[in-house]
Amino acid sequence: MSLHSNQRVESVLDLVGNTPLIRLRSVEARAGGGEIWAKCEFENPGGSVKDRAARQIILDALSEGRLGAGKILIDSTSGNTGVAYSMLGAALAIPVHLVMPANVSLARKNITQAYGTKLIYSSEFEGSDGAIRMVREIVAADPDKYFFPDQYSNDSNPRAHYLGTGVEILEALGSRVTHFVTGIGTTGTVMGTGRRLKEFDPNIEVVAVEPDDSFHGLEGLKHLESSIVPQIWQPEGVIDRMLPMPTDEAWDAADMLVKQEGIFIGHSAGANVAGACRVAREAGPDAVVVTILPDRGDRYFQPMRWERHYLW
Ligand code: PMP
Repeated sequence: MSLHSNQRVESVLDLVGNTPLIRLRSVEARAGGGEIWAKCEFENPGGSVKDRAARQIILDALSEGRLGAGKILIDSTSGNTGVAYSMLGAALAIPVHLVMPANVSLARKNITQAYGTKLIYSSEFEGSDGAIRMVREIVAADPDKYFFPDQYSNDSNPRAHYLGTGVEILEALGSRVTHFVTGIGTTGTVMGTGRRLKEFDPNIEVVAVEPDDSFHGLEGLKHLESSIVPQIWQPEGVIDRMLPMPTDEAWDAADMLVKQEGIFIGHSAGANVAGACRVAREAGPDAVVVTILPDRGDRYFQPMRWERHYLW
C-alpha cells in the first residue's frame, strides 16, 4: 500500500505518488557504511515511476487547453509510459493511441490494450526509431486531432518529480539526505528530484547513473552519448556527476535484492541500487543515500532479445 494519509481517494490519479521509502540493509552491509533508502515507485497504480510524469503531463495539458474536447493522446512508447498513459486515459476518458513496433512482446500489447488503448504498429525492422518517425507522420498529417506529449522535451515530466518525488524524500528524511542516485531515461526523475533537493541543500550530491555502453540491457535507461539528448536534460547546477553502470552489475544487484530483501525489481532499479551501493561505499559511514526503484521485475519476464536494446 502506498502511504496515502487519507485512505479514501477519488480516482486512480490520486493513487499516483506518495510512495514509501524502504531501507536496504543488505545493500548497506555490502557498502560497508551509511544508510541506503529506496523509493518504491513500483507502488504506483500503473506499476512504475512513469505514472508521475504521465499524470503531470496530462493534468498540465488539460489545464492549458492542449488536451480535451476529444483530442487523442498519441505517443510512441510500449514501455512504462505507455502503460501510464493508458491507465490515466481510461480514468479521464481521454482516447489513447500508441505506436509501437509490430514485434513488441505480447505482454506489452496486452497490458496497454486492456485499458482500451488503440495500438498502431510500425515496422518491426525499424525498432523504436521507426515508431517515433511514424507517430510524427501521423501527427503532422492531422495536428488538431492529436495531443503529442513528447516526454523528452515536456517540462511537466521533471516538474512531476520537483513537485512530488523530491518533496516526498525531504518529508521522509529531511536534512539527513546526503546523496541522490538514479538512472537516466528521459532524465525527468533525476532533473526534477535533483533540482528540488539542490534547492533545499546545495551540498546534497546528485548522481546520474547511465548504462556504460550504447548496447546495454537496462531497459528504460539511456546512454546519452549515443542517443538523442533529451531537451529536459539541463545538468548544470543539478547533476554533480555521471556514474557509468555495466549491465551485469545492475542485473546482479536486482537479483540480490529479490533474493535477500524480497523486493522483486526491474533492471533499471538494479542499476540504481548498484549505483547507490558504490556511492555509499565511497562516502563512508555518515552517508544517507536515496535511490529509486522504478518498476517491478515481473514486467520483464521473457523479454524478446531485441527489447534489451530498446530505448523508450
Ligand atoms: N527505469 C524504467 C524502468 C523506466 O521505464 C524509466 C523511464 N524511461 C526510467 C528508469 C528512467 O526514468 P526517467 O525517464 O525519469 O529518466
